[in-house]
Amino acid sequence: MSTIAERLTALKAEIPDGIGLVAVSKFHPVGALMDAYGAGQRRFGESRVQELLRKQDEMPSDVEWHFIGHLQTNKVRSLVGRTALIESIDSEHLLECVDRESERAGVVSRVLMQVHVAAEETKFGFDPEELLDYFASRRFEALKATHICGVMGMASNTDDESRVSADFARIAEIFRDIRGRVAPDLRGFDLLSMGMSGDWPLAVAQGANLIRVGTRIFGPREY
Ligand SMILES: *Cc1c(COP(=O)(O)O)cnc(C)c1O
Repeated sequence: MSTIAERLTALKAEIPDGIGLVAVSKFHPVGALMDAYGAGQRRFGESRVQELLRKQDEMPSDVEWHFIGHLQTNKVRSLVGRTALIESIDSEHLLECVDRESERAGVVSRVLMQVHVAAEETKFGFDPEELLDYFASRRFEALKATHICGVMGMASNTDDESRVSADFARIAEIFRDIRGRVAPDLRGFDLLSMGMSGDWPLAVAQGANLIRVGTRIFGPREY
């Protein structure tokens, strides 16, 4: 059986230049994260606020923490100021809450807008039309302490690669549409986060420049 460091190194050799890797470490112990850290990984993704904060306290301070799970508004206050990127802004209500709490804390939060295109009803995120409407209306101009850096999305949970590729293509199209047509004056809107252990090459083929990989590095999670 290979080690975390070996799996990480093998993965990094496969990822084309210019594509960022978030090591999704949710449910894994700090020791596992430190193995990846020792192999050079500095960007980690967590999906629960308490778990992120606890691990952050135990890990070296040069780690960049990405929040990738559904964020409840009552947890926002404890999270702002502790992340390099909140990838999972899934409603305008949440975005406004992050903005308010960031301003209150005297920090600027970098975030991605999560778009929902997958078949599963249960996944969070803006509908494509809703997201385009948000940018077209220029409501982002009212944000005081939040920098929207791009879009995050997930493909349908299926073995059908053509369906997965089509989902990624749709997310990428929305991202490019916002950048190119809807709000071309947006600054620093350049991250397209999509792709996980099973489907990241398909995501990269559709233009992802940030991928979020857990199982392939750390092995299966024990919930
Ligand atoms: C858990 C998770 C991942 C990583 O999934 P793997 O299949 O373990 O690579 C990526 N993105 C999000 C949003 C997740 O919740």
